[in-house]
Amino acid sequence: MLTGIHIVIIGGDARQLEVIDKLNNLDAQLDLVGFDRLDQYFHGVNKMDLEDIDPTTVDVIVLPVSGANNEGYVESIFTEKKIQLTKEWLSETPENCVIYSGIPTAFLLECERDCKCTLVKLFERDDVAIYNSIPTVEGTIMMVIQNTDITIHGSNVIILGLGRTGMSLARTFDALGAHVKVGARRPEHMARITEMGLEPFHIKDLENKVSDVDVVINTVPAKIITSLVLSQMPSRALVVDVASKPGGTDFRYAERRGIKAILAPGIPGIVAPKTAGRIIANVLSELLLERFEKTDN
Ligand code: NAP
Repeated sequence: MLTGIHIVIIGGDARQLEVIDKLNNLDAQLDLVGFDRLDQYFHGVNKMDLEDIDPTTVDVIVLPVSGANNEGYVESIFTEKKIQLTKEWLSETPENCVIYSGIPTAFLLECERDCKCTLVKLFERDDVAIYNSIPTVEGTIMMVIQNTDITIHGSNVIILGLGRTGMSLARTFDALGAHVKVGARRPEHMARITEMGLEPFHIKDLENKVSDVDVVINTVPAKIITSLVLSQMPSRALVVDVASKPGGTDFRYAERRGIKAILAPGIPGIVAPKTAGRIIANVLSELLLERFEKTDN
C-alpha cells in the first residue's frame, strides 16, 4: 500500500482517471491539480491549485504523457485554468521527490538537473512501450480499414522499423493475411524478420520496395519516406505514420502526388483511453510500491 505517500497528480486526459483510481485504491494521499471540471468523484481525493500545495510535503508528482512543455505548462482536459510548474516550486520539494512523466521535455530535464528531483520517463520503458503497442496496432488497423477499399488480407503492407511498435504491427498484419515486408537496418532485426516468416529489407533500399505497396506503416522517427520514396509508390497507396511528431514522411510531397498520408499521434489515448490508462496505472503503481517498500526497509 501507499498509505501516507503524498502524490500530486497534475493534468492529463481520460487516461489519468485510471491512474487516480489505482493510486486511490492503494491508499495514497492524493491531490489533483487541473481537475476542477472533472465530474467523476474519487472519495478522499482533493482537487487543488498548485499554489495551495506545500511542496515540502510532496513525495511524488505524476504528470501526463506529454509531461510539461518548455515553459513548464501542463496540459489538462479537465480545466480551463493554466497550470504551470516552476523550478522555484519544484526546488522546494524534498530531495527524494520523484516526477513521473510519459515523455521527458527540455524543461523537465532541466528541472531534474537543477532541482535535484528524480525524473522517471514512463514511455521510454520497454514494458510500457510494448503494452502500448497493443492499442496502437488496433488503432492502426482501424485507420487502414477506414482509408482503403481493399481488405488487409492479401494486401501488400510495408512496416518500417522493428522496434517495440513495429514488431507488434508486423506480427498482427501478417496474422491478418497481409503480405508483409519489414524495413530495418540492424542485422539482428533482419534475422528476426526472417525468423517471423516475413520479408526483410534494409531501410536504405526503401525506394526500391514500394512499387506495388498498398499500405506503408512507419514507426521510425526520422525522415525516411522521402519525396523520392513517395515518387516510386502507386498513388493508391496509403501511408500511416505513427512515429512521434513530425513523423517520418514528406507529407507535402505525398499530398502533391495524391498519396494519402496520415500522421497518427497518440493512438492509444484515442482508441482505447481506458486500456491506455490502465497500462500507465499498472506500471506506475508497481514502480511506486517498489520504491516505497524499499524506503520502508
Ligand atoms: P523503438 O522501439 O525505439 O523502435 C524504433 C525503430 O525505429 C527501431 O526499429 C529503430 O531501429 C528504428 N530507427 C530509429 N531511428 C532510425 C533511423 N534514423 N533510421 C532507421 N531506423 C531507425 O520505438 P517504438 O516504441 O517502437 O516507437 C516507435 C515510434 O512510434 C516512436 O516515435 C514512438 O514515439 C511512436 N509511437 C507512437 C504511437 C502513436 O500512438 N502514434 C504509439 C506508440 C509509439 P534501430 O534499433 O536500428 O535504431
